Amino acid sequence: MVERSYKYLNEIELNFVKGIGEKKFASLKKSKLKTINDLIRYFPRTHIDRSKVKLVSEIEQNDQTYEVTIFGTIDKLSVFTTKSRLRIATLTISDESGSLKAKWFGPQYIESRFKEGDVVAVSGKPEVKKTGSIEFKNPAIEKFTDVEELNQTGSLIPIYKKVEGMTSASIRKGLKEIINILESTKDNFEPGLFDVLPSNIREEYSLLDRFESIKKIHFPKNENDYKSARRRLVLDEFIYLRSIFANLKSKHKNENKGLVYKFTNPDIEEFVKQLPFNLTQSQNSAMNEILEDLKKTYPMKRLLQGDVGSGKTVVATIASYAAIKSDYQVALMAPTEVLAEQHYSSINEFMNKDQYEIHLLTSSVKNRDKILKNLKNGNPGLYVGTHALIQESIKFSNLGLAIIDEQQRFGVEQRKKLINETGNIPDQLVMTATPIPRTTALSIYGDLEISSINELPPGRKDITSHLIEGSKKDNDIIYDICKFHLKRKSQIFVVCPFIEESEVMDIQAAENVFIEYKEKFKDYKVSILHGKMSFDEKEQIMQDMKSGKIDILVSTIVIEVGIDIPNATLMIIESAERFGLNQLHQLRGRVGRSDKQSECVFHVSKKKTLKTISEDGKRRLEAIVDIKDGFRLSEIDLEIRGEGKVTGTSQSGQSDLKIADLRYDYKLLLESKNIFDQLESEDIKNLLFEEAQILFPNYFKASGTT
Ligand code: ADP
Ligand code: MG
Repeated sequence: MVERSYKYLNEIELNFVKGIGEKKFASLKKSKLKTINDLIRYFPRTHIDRSKVKLVSEIEQNDQTYEVTIFGTIDKLSVFTTKSRLRIATLTISDESGSLKAKWFGPQYIESRFKEGDVVAVSGKPEVKKTGSIEFKNPAIEKFTDVEELNQTGSLIPIYKKVEGMTSASIRKGLKEIINILESTKDNFEPGLFDVLPSNIREEYSLLDRFESIKKIHFPKNENDYKSARRRLVLDEFIYLRSIFANLKSKHKNENKGLVYKFTNPDIEEFVKQLPFNLTQSQNSAMNEILEDLKKTYPMKRLLQGDVGSGKTVVATIASYAAIKSDYQVALMAPTEVLAEQHYSSINEFMNKDQYEIHLLTSSVKNRDKILKNLKNGNPGLYVGTHALIQESIKFSNLGLAIIDEQQRFGVEQRKKLINETGNIPDQLVMTATPIPRTTALSIYGDLEISSINELPPGRKDITSHLIEGSKKDNDIIYDICKFHLKRKSQIFVVCPFIEESEVMDIQAAENVFIEYKEKFKDYKVSILHGKMSFDEKEQIMQDMKSGKIDILVSTIVIEVGIDIPNATLMIIESAERFGLNQLHQLRGRVGRSDKQSECVFHVSKKKTLKTISEDGKRRLEAIVDIKDGFRLSEIDLEIRGEGKVTGTSQSGQSDLKIADLRYDYKLLLESKNIFDQLESEDIKNLLFEEAQILFPNYFKASGTT
C-alpha cells in the first residue's frame, strides 16, 4: 500500500476530479487552483452556521452582538456614491417573515455578483434600529442555487473566496469528491493523507492527523471540529516556515565564506572607552553579538532593531570600526539624505575623521573624485550615503561590511546590489527602528539573526503626549504649550503630513503652517524644511537647528527618521490622524532626547474633531497617546489595518500563509518552535522541507531578506 502525500497530490490536476470539466478547470486555473493540493488547501473564508439561521422576524435587539444568518431573496439592488466618492451597495432581502437591508461600503462590486431574485444567505451582526428596521453592514453573503446540496452539507456550510466562474457550491462538490477519493483504498492507496508529523508528537500536542484536519477545515460538524482542524493547519504552516528558515540559514553557513577580521578585543575596548557616553546594557550585548558574527566563518546577516532614540548608530559605528581596523571598506546606506547626513555627523562624534577615512556620499555631494578613488583603491574607510552608494559609477573594491539603515525602506534589489557588487560576500547589518511585532518577525526576518536594543539611554524622561482637536480654541492651547517651551529656550518641531498624491501639495500645506507660526511667534526664528530644497539649504537648516539658531522648525515628513536634536523638546504633529501609527511613534521619538521634559502634541486637522475623522484615525490617535511601547503600537497598527478586511483566513501580500494569521496566532507560533525542535530525524526534516518548498513557493522566489 502506498501513501498519498502533498507531493503526490501536487501532481494531480483538478480535471481528474469527477464533476470538474474543462470549463471549470479553466476557471480554477485562472485563480491559481490547479492541482488537488491547491484545492484542499483552498481554505474556506468562513462557514455559515445553520444553527444560527433565523427568520427576519425573529431578529431582536439581543442579536446585535452575535452573528446571525438569514436566508432570503434579493428584492432590490441599488448602488450609490457619496460626495466623498464612497460607494455604498444596498440589497433589500426578504424571507417569508419580513425584509431587511444589507449594505456594503467601498468597492465590493456586489452588483456584479448578485441580481434581483437571487436566493442568498447573509451573515453578520445585525443592527436593529429604533424604528424596528434591520440592517447588516458589510455582511458575508453567499448565493444558493442548490438547496438539495445544502441539506447534505451539515450544519456548517463552508463559504469560499470568489473563484471567477465557480460557485461555492461547485467548490464544495469538488472537495467532497476529493475527500471521498482520499478516503478510499483505490489503486492500492492507503486511505488518508501522509502525515509528516510522527504520531508521538501528534499525541503530545493533541493534534488532529493531517487528513482529519483537511476534512474538518472544510466540513466541520461543529465549531470544535473547525478549531482543532485550524490549529493543526496553522501549526503546519509555522513549522514549514521554520523549516524553510532553518534551511536558508544552514545553506548560508555552509556555502558562503566569510571575510577574515583582524581587529582585537583591546582595539574595541579602547574605542568604546573614548565614546562620549557609556553603552547601555542592550547596546553592549548587540555589539558583542555583532562582533562575534564578524569572527565567524560565514558572513553575518543580522538585524539590529531598536526603538527610535535607542542608540543604534553608535553600535553600527563600533562594527564599522572593527571592519576598518581589519582593513575593509564599510558602506552605510540610509534612505534619505538628511538621515545619511545625520549618521555622518554622529559618526564623526564617535570616530575621528582625521584618523580614518569617513565620507558622505549622496547625490548632492559634488566633489567625489577623492572618494571614488578611495573606493577603487580599496582604501579602508566608512562611506555613508543614500541610494547614491549603489549607482553604476560607484564601485567598492574592498567592501567588508554593509550596513543598511531603515532597511524596510529599501527594495530587495537595492539591498542585493549593495551586497553583491563585490566579489566576496560582505557582512550585513540591517537596522530598523520600525519595531516589528513579535508575531510577524518570523515571517519577515526568519533568515536573519536578531539583536534588539530594548532600552533607551539613561536619563531620558517619558514624553508627555497630548491629543488636541482642530478648533480655533484648540489652536490656542497649542500656542500656549509652544510658549512654555520657547521660554525655557527649548526648540520645537512642527511636522505636516505627507500627502501621497503630490509632494507639491504637502509642501504647500507646510508653507501655510510655517506662515501661521511665523506670524504668531514674531520674536523667534521660525524656519521651514522640505524635500524640494537643495542639499545646501537643507544642510544649513539642519545645522542651524542643531546649533540652536532655529526655535521652531516646520517641516514635511522628511524628518521622520533619525534627526537627533536633544534641545528640541516639543513635537507638534499636524493632521495627526493622517499618519500611520508607526510614523507617529517615530516622530514622537524625535524629542525626549535630553533630561528636559518633552511633550508631543497630536493635532487633529483644522476644524475636525475626534468625531469627524475616520474611525481608524481616531483609534490610532487614542492608541498613540496611551501607549509608549513601539512594539505594542505596531501590533495595534496591524490590528486596525487587519480589521478592514471582511473576514478571512488568507493573508494579504505575497505571503504563502493560507490560514495562519500572524496577528492572532502568536501562541501557535511559539508552540511550532517546540514541535520543530523536537523533530530529530533527518528524514522527517527533509520531508518537511520538501513539502515546504511545494507549499511555500514564494519564499523561494523572492526570499525577501537575502
Ligand atoms: P536611533 O536608534 O534612533 O538611531 P541614535 O543612534 O540616533 O538612535 O541615538 C539617539 C541619541 O542617543 C544620539 O544622540 C546618541 O548619541 C545618543 N546615545 C546613544 N547611545 C547612548 C548612550 N548609551 N548613552 C547616552 N546617549 C546615547
Ligand atoms: Mg537612527
